[in-house]
Amino acid sequence: MKQIIFACNWKMYVDTPVRAKTLVHASIAAAQRANIPVIFLPSAVHFSGVVAAGGKHTGVSYGAQTISLYDRGAYTGEISARQMRALGATHVLVGHSERRRLFGETDAVVKQKIRRAWEAGIIPILCVGESKKTTPVRAAARACAQLKRAGEIGTKDQSWYVAYEPVWAIGGNKDVDPVYAAKVMQALHVCATKQNIRLRGVWYGGSVNQKTVAGFLKIKECTGVLIGSASADPRTMTALCKEAALLNGRIGA
Ligand code: PEP
Repeated sequence: MKQIIFACNWKMYVDTPVRAKTLVHASIAAAQRANIPVIFLPSAVHFSGVVAAGGKHTGVSYGAQTISLYDRGAYTGEISARQMRALGATHVLVGHSERRRLFGETDAVVKQKIRRAWEAGIIPILCVGESKKTTPVRAAARACAQLKRAGEIGTKDQSWYVAYEPVWAIGGNKDVDPVYAAKVMQALHVCATKQNIRLRGVWYGGSVNQKTVAGFLKIKECTGVLIGSASADPRTMTALCKEAALLNGRIGA
């Protein structure tokens, strides 16, 4: 049986420390009942509060939604990988489509952030995916090109996760055919092997909710899901964990 991971990208959905605390408590309880490792990716401003409220448990990790491309110094408003590591971050998203589209994160920036993450001892979660719905072949070509460009950094001793996120599917309630996603994820797997990129796993992200999660988890290559809006609500997060628990034991390795 394969072990799946839930990575919860809370984005900027959670306003107050009280809500962040409630959400992390409910999510940990649901994930533990379902026996699912979970990575919380709160806003930096809530990070320490979430770590303190969530506490240390097997299968519970905390990560950053982004890090600075710089290591340290006069960079007003920036937060470095080392600073996040010091607070307990073990993972970081890089190349998320919202960072690429709204904040100009180019492939060169992505590579540099991966380097910063590794230097600080943080595992990068690289997001790749096409902006518009197309054929699986074209989508795979686009995702693999992004993976290859990031892979130019060289991954001899280091590894990362790659999350396939069709950009058009981001938003929580879009209709995505798991067969389409499966084809791209298979291609990413093959591409990583050919390029000697050491992947910890291939994940799916984009409109994962309690209705869609099972379809994605059944994809052979899928070892985790990156969940946006559905992870920022305690009820939907609980429903998602229940759905995954029902599948446990039925999803092949
Ligand atoms: C995301 O943006 O990483 C994401 C998965 O969003 P959503 O689940 O809301 O589609």
